[in-house]
Amino acid sequence: MANPNLMPLEDALDHLLSKAPVVTEIETVDLADSLGRVLAENHYVPADVPPADNSAVDGYALRKQDLHGDRPMPVSARIPAGEAPKPLEPDTAARIFTGSEIPEGADSVVMQERVEVTDAGILVLAEVDEGQNIRRRGQDLTRGDLALAKGTQVRPNEMGLLASMGVARVAVLARLKVAILSTGDELVDPGTPLGPGQIYNSNRFTLMGLLTQAGCNVVLCETLRDKREATRETLLRAAESADLIITSGGVSVGEEDHVRAVLEESGSLSLWKMAIKPGKPVAFGAIGGTPVLGLPGNPGSVLVTFLMVGMPYIRKRQGRNLKPLSGERIPADFAIASPSVRREFVRARKETRGSGSAVAAYPNQSSGILSSTCWADGLAVVPENTTVSPGDLLTYYSFSELLS
Ligand code: AMP
Ligand code: MG
Repeated sequence: MANPNLMPLEDALDHLLSKAPVVTEIETVDLADSLGRVLAENHYVPADVPPADNSAVDGYALRKQDLHGDRPMPVSARIPAGEAPKPLEPDTAARIFTGSEIPEGADSVVMQERVEVTDAGILVLAEVDEGQNIRRRGQDLTRGDLALAKGTQVRPNEMGLLASMGVARVAVLARLKVAILSTGDELVDPGTPLGPGQIYNSNRFTLMGLLTQAGCNVVLCETLRDKREATRETLLRAAESADLIITSGGVSVGEEDHVRAVLEESGSLSLWKMAIKPGKPVAFGAIGGTPVLGLPGNPGSVLVTFLMVGMPYIRKRQGRNLKPLSGERIPADFAIASPSVRREFVRARKETRGSGSAVAAYPNQSSGILSSTCWADGLAVVPENTTVSPGDLLTYYSFSELLS
């Protein structure tokens, strides 16, 4: 049964994605610096690639109709790659190499392994099909076609394709500028000894890593004390430089949860008890015109809510063409006896079992357990109100897919 006070993940995402302004600022970078960036414009092919017919092998270029039985064919030219060939003399062949341009008049290339070289010329030892071993002009990219669409994220593959078209500088969308604010009087940075009641601030580093890997620019990273005025001042200051503020902690309904209170007083706030586990309290609002995503405080919840809620939102704001997650269906290697009204994202990993695979769960799924996230390679989804027995098929998302 659905709990009316818990918001389904899909509804929260619909709301978030409807309020996700895409970065508008464009910058031009060297192709060498374009990895991971999002194309700000369509790339049409300026000229055919390859620019001319060329040989796919090392061998001999000739005209098929000039071949006569076992009569040797004189070799009249040599065409290294990088040189413009002269037209082929009739009844002769040209020595040619992989990537060399096909001379006018030739219609086929015979591999050198299929040829016997004699003093009088070459003897072709195999059947020749007209057009064989020729890579046609424009067979990779044809002038005028759309090669890469705006919104494509540049992988090494796209870097190569852009280079093949002669693109040296690329217009990309600016990186999303994100501020990370960790809240909590108990937090201390690594490097400082812990006093009584203190713990190390781990969320700050988890979020820094996630955002960097997602191609964002972390412009501000501060720890907020549980004080109303300091929280307000820092949120307003962060809003001046950031496109997005991500907070951790302080969004429950306790009296020390000042992020929630400041957004209500000085900005706007939708607070959701989301129907996911871990990660119930997630806030979304704005201050000083800058959107604020308020994640829970527990470290395990931070990772799960960032990946399941934050990443789709960030991808949209980055202007990336969105592909739905595909995941994998894998049999469970664990059991969950008591069903939950919340959809559970189990910190899990895919393991080999005989000739197949199974998804194993970290034994302690408590939301404060960070070691589970290092043991795991992804998240297995247990639907709402469902028990799990070993062998049941579950959807499994790898961390790399969730962060892609
Ligand atoms: P809160 O939502 O602020 O009540 O925090 C929930 C739990 O997460 C508490 O146990 C906090 O101590 C812990 N927590 C909050 N922020 C962090 C952080 N940045 N790093 C590690 N643990 C945190
Ligand atoms: Mg707190």
